[in-house]
Amino acid sequence: MTRLTVLGSCGAWPEPGRACTGFLLSHNGFNFVIDLGYGTASRLLTHTAARDVDAVVITHEHPDHMADLSALGRAWHYTVQAPPTPTDPGEGARHGQTASRPLLLPLFCTTGTLRRLEATEPHPHPTTIFDVRDLSSGPQLHPAQEDSATQGPSTAPERSTAPEHGATREPGAAQGLSAARQRGAALELGATPEHGAAQGLGSGWDVGPFQLTAVLLPHHVPNHGVRLSAPGLSVVYSGDCGPSRLLVELARGADLLICEATLQGEPPADEPRQLMTAAEAGRAAAEAKVGTLLLTHFWPGTDRAVSVAEARAEFPGDVLAADEGLTLAL
Ligand SMILES: [Zn+2]
Repeated sequence: MTRLTVLGSCGAWPEPGRACTGFLLSHNGFNFVIDLGYGTASRLLTHTAARDVDAVVITHEHPDHMADLSALGRAWHYTVQAPPTPTDPGEGARHGQTASRPLLLPLFCTTGTLRRLEATEPHPHPTTIFDVRDLSSGPQLHPAQEDSATQGPSTAPERSTAPEHGATREPGAAQGLSAARQRGAALELGATPEHGAAQGLGSGWDVGPFQLTAVLLPHHVPNHGVRLSAPGLSVVYSGDCGPSRLLVELARGADLLICEATLQGEPPADEPRQLMTAAEAGRAAAEAKVGTLLLTHFWPGTDRAVSVAEARAEFPGDVLAADEGLTLAL
């Protein structure tokens, strides 16, 4: 059984009664969390306990995509990692945890995300809660490929030069304190991103039943669009980005494209572009020939029906608007 649950659909800040960006992709019992912006942690925990989260990917370091990662980390630390006692072996002990080897939650993110997480709460340090994998250590197209592939104005975001906190840029290497989480044989987390290729974009990581491919897309900070593939299933999420040919290639033939549609109407004239209009999202979906387009990251106050109409004018397939609690069977 496969389903995608929308945890939050707002960009920037959450509207009353809503939350910022977040999704839960559940496939054959594996729960993959995709972004955790403002207000999403409570919604996530209404759908699944922290101990049943199997992996997390954060596309970029902006708080509307990662602020509630700290909340999930706390839930993980104080429930799953709670020290076992003689009278209560605890969740961790039931999964083989020992005092010297706590269970870590696999987390794919940028070094910038890790820095913000550490700034929020340095103790316990996030690398003692999460098994951190640097998204930028995965396959990346050469800048020349980006340039030649990009249609329309676009630019590669600046790379962060601030110190890293353990997350290595060596391909696929896990953070130093990490150990592959052990949950029976259910989780197989590949140590190196070498298995298979997604749409000619290079190799990815094996994460449970999924192959994860990440591609750098144009935004104010390093943002990785992600593709999660399993036999008979492919879900692509843009994160936040301006129009990019790489997004089209990442999404090529996907069953579902979750695409940011922050803007409406005519695209802004300012360059470089860091966000997309709903029409541009529709155009990307059409070029990639995806099955369904799910618009998200709406600017607060946006009339979402207008966004859907603008995307439908460009894309003949199904177009939906993300909505808190919406669940799609895939
Ligand atoms: Zn955002």
